[in-house]
Amino acid sequence: MDYPDRFDVIVIGGGHAGTEAALASARMGCQTLLLTHNIETLGQMSCNPAIGGIGKSHLVKEIDALGGAMALATDLGGIQFRVLNARKGPAVRATRAQADRVRYKAAIRGLLENQPNLTLFQQAAGDLLVDNDTVRGVVTETGIRFHAESVVLCTGTFLGGVIHIGLDQSRGGRAGDPPSNALAQRLRALPFNVARLKTGTPPRIDAKSVDFSVLEAQPGDTPTPVMSYLGSREMHPRQVDCHIAHTNERTHEIILANLDRSPMYSGVIEGVGPRYCPSIEDKVHRFADKASHQVFVEPEGLDTHELYPNGISTSLPFDVQLQVVRSIRGLEHAHITRPGYAIEYDFFDPRDLKHSLETKFIHNLFFAGQINGTTGYEEAGAQGLLAGLNAARRAKGLEAWWPRRDEAYLGVLVDDLITLGTQEPYRMFTSRAEYRLLLREDNADLRLTETGRDLGLVDDARWTAFATKREAIERESARFRANWVQPGSAAGERLAEKTGKPLPREYNLMDLLKRPELEYADLAGLPGIEGEPVADAAVAEQVQIQAKYQGYIDRQQAEIDKLKRFEATRLPADLDFDRVEGLSNEIRQKLAAARPATLAQAGRISGVTPAAVSILLIHLKKHR
Ligand code: FAD
Repeated sequence: MDYPDRFDVIVIGGGHAGTEAALASARMGCQTLLLTHNIETLGQMSCNPAIGGIGKSHLVKEIDALGGAMALATDLGGIQFRVLNARKGPAVRATRAQADRVRYKAAIRGLLENQPNLTLFQQAAGDLLVDNDTVRGVVTETGIRFHAESVVLCTGTFLGGVIHIGLDQSRGGRAGDPPSNALAQRLRALPFNVARLKTGTPPRIDAKSVDFSVLEAQPGDTPTPVMSYLGSREMHPRQVDCHIAHTNERTHEIILANLDRSPMYSGVIEGVGPRYCPSIEDKVHRFADKASHQVFVEPEGLDTHELYPNGISTSLPFDVQLQVVRSIRGLEHAHITRPGYAIEYDFFDPRDLKHSLETKFIHNLFFAGQINGTTGYEEAGAQGLLAGLNAARRAKGLEAWWPRRDEAYLGVLVDDLITLGTQEPYRMFTSRAEYRLLLREDNADLRLTETGRDLGLVDDARWTAFATKREAIERESARFRANWVQPGSAAGERLAEKTGKPLPREYNLMDLLKRPELEYADLAGLPGIEGEPVADAAVAEQVQIQAKYQGYIDRQQAEIDKLKRFEATRLPADLDFDRVEGLSNEIRQKLAAARPATLAQAGRISGVTPAAVSILLIHLKKHR
């Protein structure tokens, strides 16, 4: 049957990409349908119940700055929060939260159910309605036809999913869920480049069978960090500790003795796994000289005894999994509640996408999440938001929008994917961004919320909170520039005592704040200084970071401006890189394979050096 209501946007798949896509489209005022296998699994964390971490928290905060759900759900579901790299510079600091998977899911579902313009429907999508290279809607596996202007596909690890435990295989999208085979076949018939990737998950353990007395406790930070710009500590449920255990030589012996029963090492799995989240058999094999690996023993929630042993993802047979787990100190009597497994699935070459995440072959069809070759909830959520936004803009007849690499990690993510493609599951790192100092997790709102407001993604409550914070930063920065400290004054004496040397001349507070030995708190309330310190720690943090890093930030900005002059310089489509003198053969091959459209794109191909970009520029000038 044809469903009687027509939608602007249909999103297929209620995982991390799909939920952000559907919410973004609905926030933009588009009538949106979220079609998913099972409403109970909306926002389900297939693997580790944790959000954020290095490079990833940057994406979560960007999603939040653009009005998305992930950070708020983390504040509602988070049971342990820490800031990683807290002692390093602000560019690489990253908030990470362990989440109660049930509370997280409930928070996402609550946001979805209360979102105006959004309709949920539970059923598998089996087919796409495509007419003259344009998608027109979706057909469910029971034959209901939904019609829409644009469609966003966010089917995660489900397309052609095959689960491996040892040499046993079964079909599934993840443990307990069916695969999406009809849709996978349909997509393989369209002109997309499809390949296989794999990922894995560790066995889960019953906490009642663990001896915590011999494990190292790892508490969260105090004061507890907050993920969302609209979040607060009061939103957090009870906080708990994680623990650290270690593999040992016995563990490694067991694994090595059983590698022939691993589907990865016996050649049964063809897909490539995540380099930065390897299975324990991979780690033991690749880093043979390491006698031990850390295992973070993380709670799955407040109302369950299940634990997630982070670091021993595996697809070894169950009997080997049990021996591996029980060889670890503290886990000698551990009971496994769910076996670990690996899953292989279809993904599409992201070079077949535009920056908007619309496919190049089928108009109005957008792809987001794991199906684009990424791994991780955060990478999926960020793509989902962008695809949902652009599907909505397409439905409204508006031009696509995407952030540049110097504006957002989301810009880096999408540009990397569509320019370079990926041969292994792609995860975000701060090292992937060339403008790290500008793209910090602390300033995602300052970078993106105004744009999000213009795009229609940011509601009044978020906008008011943001505008208030931004004004407070400006006011406090102005106060710091306007207040001066004289040598010999009460304030000057206090600073001399703090730094161990007298002030040689008068300085304003902003210049003093640039000094490494002085912090906001040392200066904001000095005697004789006009005004009061701000109560909002986020405002104080911004004033301090902007003061301390202004020099570096200005330098990065100058580099961006320089690169922008090249950005427009196009490389002719028929440029023969073999004829560009001075390039190494390796760089020639890389350029020929990627065929960058501009000099800036050429410069981002890994291995293409700035010197090579200059050679290209000279070549272009010579042969113009
Ligand atoms: P998913 O979260 O998979 O969501 C897909 C959604 O689409 C589901 O709700 C599904 O029901 C729905 N769906 C699928 N097909 C259809 C259809 N035809 N019709 C309707 N609905 C459909 N990430 C890491 O960062 N590190 C890891 O180590 C890691 N390990 C993992 C291990 C396993 C076993 C699995 C399954 C995943 C792992 N992940 C890991 C990946 C992480 O789960 C994903 O990156 C993330 O969930 C991707 O989000 P997504 O929205 O793209 O897809």
